[in-house]
Amino acid sequence: MNYYSTRDSERKIAKTSAQVIKQGIADDGGLFLPESIPEISLDFIKEIGTLPYSERAAKILSLYLTDYTYDELLDCAKKAYDENFGDFAAPVSSFIGDDLRVLELWHGPTCAFKDMALQIMPRLLSLALKKTGEKRTAYILVATSGDTGKAALEGYKDVDSTKIMVFYPEDGVSDMQKMQMATQEGKNVCVTAIKGNFDDAQTGVKKIFADADAKASLDEKGSFLSSANSINWGRLAPQIVYYISAYADLVAEGDITLGEKVDITVPTGNFGNIFAAFLAKKMGLPVNRFICASNSNNILTDFLRTGTYDRNRQFYTTMSPSMDILISSNLERLLFYIAGAEKTTQYMKDLNEKGVYTVDADVLDVIKSEFSAYCCDEENCAKVIAKTFDKYSYVCDPHTAVAVHAAHEYLKENGKGTKNIVASTASPYKFAADVLSSLGQEIPADMKEVLTKLSDISKTPVPAPLANLFGKTVRFTKSVKKNHESLLDEVLAF
Ligand SMILES: *Cc1c(COP(=O)(O)O)cnc(C)c1O
Repeated sequence: MNYYSTRDSERKIAKTSAQVIKQGIADDGGLFLPESIPEISLDFIKEIGTLPYSERAAKILSLYLTDYTYDELLDCAKKAYDENFGDFAAPVSSFIGDDLRVLELWHGPTCAFKDMALQIMPRLLSLALKKTGEKRTAYILVATSGDTGKAALEGYKDVDSTKIMVFYPEDGVSDMQKMQMATQEGKNVCVTAIKGNFDDAQTGVKKIFADADAKASLDEKGSFLSSANSINWGRLAPQIVYYISAYADLVAEGDITLGEKVDITVPTGNFGNIFAAFLAKKMGLPVNRFICASNSNNILTDFLRTGTYDRNRQFYTTMSPSMDILISSNLERLLFYIAGAEKTTQYMKDLNEKGVYTVDADVLDVIKSEFSAYCCDEENCAKVIAKTFDKYSYVCDPHTAVAVHAAHEYLKENGKGTKNIVASTASPYKFAADVLSSLGQEIPADMKEVLTKLSDISKTPVPAPLANLFGKTVRFTKSVKKNHESLLDEVLAF
C-alpha cells in the first residue's frame, strides 16, 4: 500500500506507511493518505467481534500498514491496549436512551481518547525507524495546553529510539493536568513549564522546528526532531479500529443485526476522530450518517452546512477545551476524497492567504449527503450533563455532552429508529469540577475531594491513573523564560 499527499494530484511521490509515520506531514504541506481504501466484508466484521481488542487492531491495521508484519502489529497493539487499558480498550456498553450507545474511548492511562492513538503510534514509529534504516533517535517536541502533552508522554515513555520533551504554559493548564505532567515517569521524558501562555509555548516549539542550527546540533547528538501531531497517519489509522470494533460488539450483543446501518456522532476538534469513522464506512462498515458535534467554536457546523470555512471569527474558551479549535487540519483529508487533490490544494491556499474558502456546490452536496452538524453552547452542555445523569445515571464529560446534545438534535429532526454510536472522548473525572458544577454541586477546594465527591455522586470509582497521581513523586518543577534561547537550551540539554 503506497501513500500520497492530499496535494499531489499526479501521485508523483509514493511512500510506505513506515515513511509517512516517520515523516508526519508531506513536503508539499499536504497530509498523507493511502492510495486506496481496503474493503472489509460483513463476515470480517462479525469475526472481529470475537477477538480481544489488540487482535482487532492488528487485523484492521494490517490492511493499511502493509510494510509491517502482522506479528509486529500485534506486538505493538498488545503493548498498547492489553496492559494500559482496563478490561477492554473501547467498550460500547452504556445505553442512554432507545437509540444512543456510548463508545467509551477513555480507559487508557490519561483518561482521554488521545490514548487510543498515542499508546500505539510511538511503537509504530519506533519500528518505522528500523524499517527506514534510521540510526538517530526521534526527538518528539510538544507544546501542550494540557491533554495532548500528557497522552504523548505516556505514549512515548520508555519506547526504544525515541525521547520526548513537553513544554506547557505555567499558568495555562489545570492543577490536575500540571500534576499529571510533573509526576510523569519514564527514562526518556522531560517536562518544562514556560513563563507564558499556550501561544508562547507553541510559537517557541515551531521556531525550534524551523531552526537549521538547532537541527544541526541535534543531528550531531544523534537525534532528529519529530512531532506527535494529530495529522500523522500513525495517529489516524488506529482510530478506525474502534468504530468497527463497536459495531461488531453491538452485533454480538444482538442490539443490531449484521448489516444494519448505524449513525455515528463525534465531538470534533481537529476532525481526526470523525474522519477515522468516515474511513471505516468507506471500508464497508454499515453507516448511515455522521453527526459532527462542535462546542461554541462552531466553525465546522457552519462549514458542513454551508460549504464556507471561515476562520475569521471569535475564539471561545469552553469547558470542552480539546475542541476549542479554529483550524481543523484533518478536514483536508475529507476534501481530498470528495473534491480531489487539485481543488484541495486551492482551498488550503485560500485558507492560508485569506482565512476562508468555499467549496463547489457539488462538493457540498456530497458532504451534506454524509454529514449532519450541530453545535452546543456552554449552557446546553451543562444541561445535558445534568439530564443524562438524572435519566440514565450516566455521567458524561463536557466533550461527550456536546456530542450527546448533537445526537439529540439530530433525533429531533430525523426521528428515531437508527442506533447511534456516540463517541465519548474523556472520562468525566478529567473535568470533574465542571461536571460537578453542571450537576448543581459545590466544588470542593481540594483536588482529591473533587474526585471523591464525583465518585460518591455517580457511584463510579475514580479511575486508577487519576487516583494514583496523589501518591506520585513530583519529578519536573523547572520553569523557564518564554524566549527562543531558553527553550532551545532546554531542548539541547536533554
Ligand atoms: C482531541 C479531543 C477531541 C477532538 O478530537 P479530534 O480528532 O481533534 O476531532 C475531542 N474530545 C477530547 C476529549 C479530545 O481530547
